[in-house]
Amino acid sequence: MGRLALVTGGTRGIGEAISIRLKEAGYDVAANYGNNDEKAKAFYEHYGIPIYKFDVADFDACAAAIAQIRKDFRRDIDVLVNNAGITKDNTIHNMSSDCWHSVMETNLGSCFNMCRNVIERMRENQFGRIVNVGSINGQAGQYGQVNYAAAKSGIHGFTKALAQEGARFNITVNAVAPGYIATDMVRAVPEKVLEKIIARIPVGRLGEAPEIARAVEFLVSDDAGFITGSTLSINGGQHMY
Ligand code: NDP
Repeated sequence: MGRLALVTGGTRGIGEAISIRLKEAGYDVAANYGNNDEKAKAFYEHYGIPIYKFDVADFDACAAAIAQIRKDFRRDIDVLVNNAGITKDNTIHNMSSDCWHSVMETNLGSCFNMCRNVIERMRENQFGRIVNVGSINGQAGQYGQVNYAAAKSGIHGFTKALAQEGARFNITVNAVAPGYIATDMVRAVPEKVLEKIIARIPVGRLGEAPEIARAVEFLVSDDAGFITGSTLSINGGQHMY
């Protein structure tokens, strides 16, 4: 295969499943994380996928890490999956400016920080695959999540604009919009709220991280070369866009 994939937030949850799936499909994979050293170390020891700790909200840190990854693997990044994300939920009248800005910078600013630092080489190489992880809550909105919904909604616009810029360089840019997936992020939701959420999902269950990973694997494959600027909803029928 000989292609290098970088997955942000690639050591836990959905990102972990994407890293593993791409490795199984024959990619060289570099997995980023932000804070959880213990989990990242266990991930590295189990799967042997190199890990890179840096803050995706920090442009200079992204630039430095991408340069290091290129050096370590002795090649350019062919596939970028912008998956890292956080929630800091609150109703707007209780939301601090920090909660707004940190979610915007981590979830949306990161897409700029990462893409800006890989795009020139992708253009030169006449090949690139970018997948941004959006959310059902960026499509439909969600009570208590103006920050998260705005950032994720922004990802969908970002994807379509960059897809237009990348198209003639054989760079595809797509998004996936997961519904509720059984990861730490969703397990943090109070049980009673979770029961109500599941009741609204037509298939009657949460999604599993590998179900998102398989869609990402397809979108970055050669078979998906004619798909760009699209958002694939993976939500058990909860929101039909
Ligand atoms: P998790 O909380 O399980 O994992 C988040 C990952 O992102 C972790 O690896 C974390 O690193 C990393 N991360 C967070 N902030 C930063 C940062 N500043 N710099 C670098 N890495 C960072 O989340 P999920 O797997 O549930 O979610 C993954 C993506 O999918 C997110 O973008 C989320 O918004 C989106 N999504 C999730 C849904 C769900 O139901 N779970 C539904 C819809 C969208 P560390 O381990 O160090 O903390």
